[in-house]
Amino acid sequence: MTDKVKLSDMESNIAVSGKTRVCGLIGDPVEHTLSPLIHNSLAALMGIDLIYVPMRVESGSVESAVRGAYDLGMLGLNVTVPHKISVMDAALYIQKNAAVIGAVNTLVRDREEKGYIGYNTDYLGLKRALADDGISLKDRNVVILGAGGAARAAAFLCAFEHAGSVYILNRNADKAEALCRDVNLFSESEGIKGNEDDALCKPLPLDAHSDVPGSDLTVIQASSVGLHPNTEDVIIDDESFYARISYGFDLIYNPAETRFMRMVAANGGRASNGLKMLLYQAVCAFELWNDVKVPSDITDRVADILRAASSPAPEDSR
Ligand code: NAP
Repeated sequence: MTDKVKLSDMESNIAVSGKTRVCGLIGDPVEHTLSPLIHNSLAALMGIDLIYVPMRVESGSVESAVRGAYDLGMLGLNVTVPHKISVMDAALYIQKNAAVIGAVNTLVRDREEKGYIGYNTDYLGLKRALADDGISLKDRNVVILGAGGAARAAAFLCAFEHAGSVYILNRNADKAEALCRDVNLFSESEGIKGNEDDALCKPLPLDAHSDVPGSDLTVIQASSVGLHPNTEDVIIDDESFYARISYGFDLIYNPAETRFMRMVAANGGRASNGLKMLLYQAVCAFELWNDVKVPSDITDRVADILRAASSPAPEDSR
């Protein structure tokens, strides 16, 4: 019996009663999301009476959707593209790190007042996925490939964790510069300095990777290059870059092994995909909604369920 079969058994056994709490995902599109699989599995395995449903919400309707969710008694919401910024206007208040990052992917019902508190569990998911691999960013020389929404969470995680220096390499130079500016403003205000006693984050073009110093690099691949179906694409194709990488984390998990990961491994480094990040951002939201701690044997079981379901699967849309 495969995990997929076990899961479909589990899903068909979901019993909804008058006491069942409802959580969900808002975004556009939401059709390919794996979040219901994660949360409904967590609820079943933890014995928590909760059901999780995806809901497509168009831009312009986010505030009314969140108000309606609260009035319907929903326990919490996940928020995905393209609403992670606009949803901040619909929250009662924003937790500090989510406000610093400038994006919210989780709304948690406030029991006292009329609304939801906004959190960001994307950066927490990445932090926990790295920790599973024994990786701490403190004092590390980190390279982030990409400067979109996911790279933003990664770059702020580097600041929160007091990385030594952070190089953001992106095709669009303006976006890399803007992200570095935001992270440096925050880190300077907190007194966080880079290894070389200057700005923490530095923008670079993709073809300037040899300007990054060191031979023990931690690289976070946060671009969408290599995502299914373009599985043979890689954002930097120069072996000399990979020879300096000791650890590479690719946020992509479909395919399970990207060309970036293969190149890191072929040059003697360790590499992981983004499946655990996806899992842990959900686990963090689940823990906030239900005020529980999910034990590691359950996260391991849900990781197996996810692996079985996501390969080959539609690309990530959270
Ligand atoms: P995004 O905001 O659209 O950013 C995409 C990034 O990829 C940009 O930096 C873009 O560069 C770069 N890029 C795209 N095509 C490129 C190309 N042909 N050459 C060079 N660079 C290119 O997307 P996102 O939300 O940050 O997501 C990025 C990736 O992370 C996606 O694959 C997504 O599935 C994955 N992700 C995974 C998780 C997880 O939990 N594992 C969570 C979030 C995202 P420009 O700025 O130059 O356009």
